[in-house]
Order: sequence, then structure tokens, then C-alpha cells
Amino acid sequence: MTPLNQEDQFAELVRLRRLFHRNPETGFTEFWTTARICEYLEPMNCSLMFGKDLQAALVEPERMEAQLNTKAYDQCLEKYPDDPWIPRFEGIPGVVVLFKGKKKGPRFGFRFDMDGLPIQEACAETHQPFKNGFASDTGNMHACGHDGHITLGLGLASLLSKNLEELSGEFYLLFQPGEEVLMGGRLYSKLGFIKDLDYFFSAHLGMSGPGMTSCGVSFFADKRLRVVFKGTSAHAGGAPHAGKNALLAACTAVNGLYGISRHSGGSSRINIGEFKSDNVVNIIPDHAEFELDLRAQTNPVMEYLLGRAENIIQGAALMQEVTHDIRFEAETETAPNSGEMVSEVRKACLDIGMKKEQILDRLQISGSEDATFIMNEVLRNGGKTTYIGIGSPSKGTHHNENFDIHEEDLPRGVNLLFQLAQNLSRTC
Ligand SMILES: [Zn+2]
Ligand SMILES: [Zn+2]
Repeated sequence: MTPLNQEDQFAELVRLRRLFHRNPETGFTEFWTTARICEYLEPMNCSLMFGKDLQAALVEPERMEAQLNTKAYDQCLEKYPDDPWIPRFEGIPGVVVLFKGKKKGPRFGFRFDMDGLPIQEACAETHQPFKNGFASDTGNMHACGHDGHITLGLGLASLLSKNLEELSGEFYLLFQPGEEVLMGGRLYSKLGFIKDLDYFFSAHLGMSGPGMTSCGVSFFADKRLRVVFKGTSAHAGGAPHAGKNALLAACTAVNGLYGISRHSGGSSRINIGEFKSDNVVNIIPDHAEFELDLRAQTNPVMEYLLGRAENIIQGAALMQEVTHDIRFEAETETAPNSGEMVSEVRKACLDIGMKKEQILDRLQISGSEDATFIMNEVLRNGGKTTYIGIGSPSKGTHHNENFDIHEEDLPRGVNLLFQLAQNLSRTC
């Protein structure tokens, strides 16, 4: 295998991470990001699938249409008129890269998410990206470390490209849009080749303690619902009895939802992070809506939460004689980690020089992750999978304006993924 020049590798990974950190793009608007990924990979010994070809690779290509953001694409074309890549995407962000080893062997999938969040990045000397001049000033921020994930993907691509002669099998690298909006993973799970994968891995930075790696991270299932109440407006002084108060129904529902009993079968979370009722002070409010986020450790606990939530919303509507509508906005599933793959990650950690005490087999976290759709698709078709947590002493929590990864952890992540590919490639 081509030996690593550690200093050069680290400098290159830091350069890439900072390039992407400076210009975050939110879910399904990652056109500039996809362009830089393609530009980096094109000279390598691989094939790229993007734009309409990527859409055509979906089992149901029309599924892509609902996610596309034409306005954002047009703005991006206008902002970067000389970019040779962006026009080639035809409005579709994301790219899948295939490296083929010299000999036949297993099919691998590695997924890297690449979207930022609508958060204004901290402007403080204590915030390393600001201090070193690569913080974003666009109102969007890589506050979940996906800039680091792209970097892990490009670092892995670079090692695969240099070592294809020694490797057996096919290596698909999925640079997936729209993780934070929980739609990209579901879409990519329907790419035709996913069902043929023998092994599928995804990883997140900052999950596990500093210097640690978790070999099998489990996530909560997540359902996001928009709840809309419609009533009847009336004069607040003259005829309040003639009105049907949608605002009151929504408030009653919110109180009830936060009061759902916990389930002994597993942990759960409930949050209402947005509430709208655009009415006027002297009119009985005829409209109110909110977005509800339900999370559960297991699918049965999620079913319980959902059932209770629906009853509470329906009951609140009935109390005020208003109508209600519940729409699913997005969701993720839970996905089991294959025991055999958890062991393989442990072995790869040891192979790259990590100590036993730095390796954790299992980690349950209460966040959610849309790679679970791809994991479940792989499992349904006989493949094996696990989700890896790459510990990093991050400043600020994920999704916070002060969030920052520890760049020193990037080489560990890249080398771990490559070691996994090497080890499993040899077993065929
Ligand atoms: Zn996130
Ligand atoms: Zn994330």
C-alpha cells in the first residue's frame, strides 16, 4: 500500500475542511460544494455520477423532483458564472463516486453528508474558524461538522485512488445532500446499487469523547409533523361566541403534547420549535399552526408517541370546534448496527494504532440521522452495516454557533475508513 506522508496528509485535510467550512450550503442547495468535490475527484482513477445520471439511478427517479430547489440553483449559477461544474448538475446537488479495485470483490458504500445549517457563525476570537479567518459570514454555518465529513470522504478517495492495484472490490462514495432536512438519506437509499452493497458505513465527527471512536452508534427515530388548525373569525367584542378559536386549540394541543407520559420501553423527546398564528388583536383567531418534532429510541415507542400526539391534537380541535390537519414533513428510522461490522471497526481502530481504551463498541445517542434509511435498505438485502462515531473535543454543541471540530481528528477518521476498506477487501 502507498505509505502515508502524515504531515502532507494533515495539511491537505485541514485545507479541504477550511475550504468547505467557509462556504456552507443548506440542505439540497449544495451546488458549489458538489462542484468542489467533483473538481477534486475528477483527476483520480474513478467515475463520477451526478445530475440527471444520478437521478436516473434512483429506483423511482421522480422522487428527486420534490426535493429540488430551482431558485437556489439559479442563484448559485448567477453567483459563480465561470464555474465549469455547476451548470452540469442540472439543478441536482450531490455526487456518487465509484472506485474499482484491480480484482473482483465486495461492494462497499461509504456515505458523507455535506449540508450546513441556517445559523449565523460566532464572530469571537475564542472561535477558531473566526480567529483563523475561515468562518462563514453568509448566515449559514457548518455547525454539525459536515465540512469535516466531506473532508473524510475526499481523504478516503485519495487513499483508494492511490491503492487500487492492491484492493479488491468496488467502492461507492456517496456525497449526499440534505441530511439536516432528513430527506437526502431516504432519497439515496433508493439508488439502484444500494441493494447490492455488501458493506455500508457512515460516520459522524464529534460523537464520542476526545480521541475515542464508537464502532456502532444508534440513533433515535424522528418524525417532524406540521399541525394546522383552522377555525372561524369573529368580532372579539361584538360576537366572540360566533368565532371558533384556532389559536386556543393549538395552545391546548401544545400543552397536551408536552404532557405525554414517557414510555418504559425506551427514551423519547418532544419539541415544538415553531408556532405561528398571524391574527389580529380584535378578531377571534381563525388560524394557528406549529411544527412538532417527535423522537424515540425504538420504533414501537415512536408508534406510541404518534398515537398519543394524534389523539391530543384531535381532542384539542374538538374542544374548540375547529378543524385540524397533520402533515408529515420528514422522518428518520432507527437502524441496528451489524455485530460483525462493529467488530471490524474495532479491529480497524487497533490496526491504525488506537488503544483499547479509546474504542467503544456501542453508543446510543438521542440525535437522529437519515443514513439509517440506507442502512436499513442494505440490511434488508443481506448486506452489513454500522455507523461510526469519531470522537472530537468539539467546542459548543452540534447545531450551535460556536461549534467547531478538532482538525487533528480528521486523519484518524480517514485512516480508519481506509483501514476498514483494506481489511474487508482482503477477506474476499
Ligand atoms: Zn446536524
Ligand atoms: Zn450532522
